[in-house]
Amino acid sequence: MSAMNHNLEYLRLLKIPVWQVRGQEVSETVEPLIYEEVLPATESITASAIMPMMDDHPQEIQSVSNIATALHAQAVTSVENCTACKLHNGRTQVITGKGSPAAKIVVITEAPTFNEDVAGELFAEEAGKLFENILKSIGYRMEDVYITPYVKCAPYQLFITEAEEAQCHQHLMNELNEIQPQKVLLLGRNVAKYLLKATQSFDAVRNQSAHLNILDKAVSVYVSYNPYQLLKFPEEKRKVWNDIKKMMK
Ligand code: SF4
Repeated sequence: MSAMNHNLEYLRLLKIPVWQVRGQEVSETVEPLIYEEVLPATESITASAIMPMMDDHPQEIQSVSNIATALHAQAVTSVENCTACKLHNGRTQVITGKGSPAAKIVVITEAPTFNEDVAGELFAEEAGKLFENILKSIGYRMEDVYITPYVKCAPYQLFITEAEEAQCHQHLMNELNEIQPQKVLLLGRNVAKYLLKATQSFDAVRNQSAHLNILDKAVSVYVSYNPYQLLKFPEEKRKVWNDIKKMMK
């Protein structure tokens, strides 16, 4: 798929309006005025910049998935009965990661919501569909990435304390050490603030380069909006496409 069609696919899947000249079909041959208007400040991304990660993806998942699945089961056992911080008092269940344990991309989200706590799963319902569409626009499925919350229990109060974040940190690091991703995507303000120790505005954090050390290796980190934020503020969906393009380079 060409870069232009990736743009179009993203806009279509996320229900972002696309303006076109009456009577003209949007195609490879149409002048790209639409895209320059919708995504003004971004450099173009080529299909070849995206495809290498997607092409060799399935084989690598197959080759290591059995070992990774066994390791993942051990990590889940160690966290599911955790009572290390006060958040265990209010939870229905611990929410651990889901997706491929051999994923090249790990997505770290905010702490579980009330609905996720009850459902026992991240990105329940509409937020899940939205994130699925974001992945789809770059040729990925939910099961191709690994998604996990930075804190594993839903907060019963309105915020999570630094002590609770710190108590849960090792659970997250266990997952990252086990998966050893090539890239990490942080979705949401709280997770970016905690993991990057960021004090700037959220947009400034989104636009900066960052790394996480995973088993002594510096892994590139990207920051974008959480699907729950996008449901509340749909006008931010266009920024997410820029963030995703940056990650796929
Ligand atoms: Fe344990 Fe993390 Fe849950 Fe706290 S939030 S009880 S550290 S799993």
